[in-house]
Amino acid sequence: MSDPDFLDAGANEQWFARARQVIPGGVDSPVRSFAAVGGTPYTVARGEGAHVSDVEGRVYVDMVQSYGAVLLGHAHPAVTDAVCRAAARGTTFGAPTEGEVLLAETICARVEGCDQVRFVSSGTEAAMSAVRVARGYTGRDRVVVFEGCYHGHSDTLLAGGGSGVATLGLPLSAGVPSLAVAETMVVPYGEVPDIDERVACVLVEPVAANMGVVPPPPGFLQGLRQACDDSGALLVFDEVITGFRVLDGAASDLYGVRPDLWCFGKVIGGGLPIGAFGGRREVLSVLAPEGPVYQAGTLSGNPVATAAGLAVLSEIDGALLGDLSARVASFAASLASVFEAGGVEAQVPYVGPLVGVFFAADPVRNFADARRSVAGGLYPAFFRAMLDNGVALAPGPYEALFPGAAHSAAVLDRVLDAAGAAVEVLRSVQGAR
Ligand SMILES: *Cc1c(COP(=O)(O)O)cnc(C)c1O
Repeated sequence: MSDPDFLDAGANEQWFARARQVIPGGVDSPVRSFAAVGGTPYTVARGEGAHVSDVEGRVYVDMVQSYGAVLLGHAHPAVTDAVCRAAARGTTFGAPTEGEVLLAETICARVEGCDQVRFVSSGTEAAMSAVRVARGYTGRDRVVVFEGCYHGHSDTLLAGGGSGVATLGLPLSAGVPSLAVAETMVVPYGEVPDIDERVACVLVEPVAANMGVVPPPPGFLQGLRQACDDSGALLVFDEVITGFRVLDGAASDLYGVRPDLWCFGKVIGGGLPIGAFGGRREVLSVLAPEGPVYQAGTLSGNPVATAAGLAVLSEIDGALLGDLSARVASFAASLASVFEAGGVEAQVPYVGPLVGVFFAADPVRNFADARRSVAGGLYPAFFRAMLDNGVALAPGPYEALFPGAAHSAAVLDRVLDAAGAAVEVLRSVQGAR
């Protein structure tokens, strides 16, 4: 789909070449570089609802939606208005503002058991700060994380998001000192590990959505709750993706398991930089100024970001997310049929509106399964064929798809049509092997 009046051939190449001169790798977050799928990234000029257009005037159905930071679709008028009005009153003060109170009240009202939240500027900071609170509260150092989950790029929490070693953490990234991950224990997703009295917290995505989409097996989250209770460790749900997406509230309520701390981000900022961590009042009382755990931020609780977040949370409710989930369930079933009809082995797991694609014969239960499916090598060809047919997926095989409120049944049908064409390409790729 393109608008010939608008076409600026070669502009993507030119912008990316300029970007590479002044930004390492040409991107501010590695997955955007297309390194995993090949080719040149499209440079976005604008977005509207379910669509983005690039600097060449091509329009794509956007399944990326800023990796879930956008739920209502791009440039939703309620969000745009709220942002403009807030910005006109001043963009940051270094003093308390009404917006942060209103957003905190809204989050706490909708998440059962969450008494308080503190705002930060990213999901990375939320997870990092939650771990610090857990360590400060328990007086213990060890952190248990699950292979294939992602909790941002802080030193302590980088271990395991890609590591095959299910033991005491090995640094995944150069530049992370081994001491920083010496107390990070990485274990397979979906299995309740032994938790002893050295463990400060167990940090988990209640629905794993950074290794594709992997729902928690029955009893897993309940088992973690029990193991934490038995050992005095805190249970932390990283709901940076799941929060206010799988439910108008948190996944903890979907599964009926209440953690001690939650991490939020993405949706709650309406597309502006934000994060939050929250929990029981008694746990959060360890934070300065009331307690000894230091944590701070110049732009934390930023009035423009909190206004955007409030606008989004005012628009969504159980009915909106229920309708979206129903559309996505039907989309997932249809997509699975498209693969099956085309003779391509694939899984299309979904939880609420969160949906993923694995090229695998059997359901993916953990990171080892996910890696095996990615090693099959079909994703790059699928990605490129979808892009050629006007659908932008994430340029990496471990990412979820993020259909949102703007993805009508008609838009999702377009994605299915593109998938039908892509399957033909995949078949020839498979045949060539
Ligand atoms: C995106 C994400 C983060 C990190 O958030 P940033 O805003 O990118 O720092 C943390 N945890 C989960 C589950 C995420 O999906």
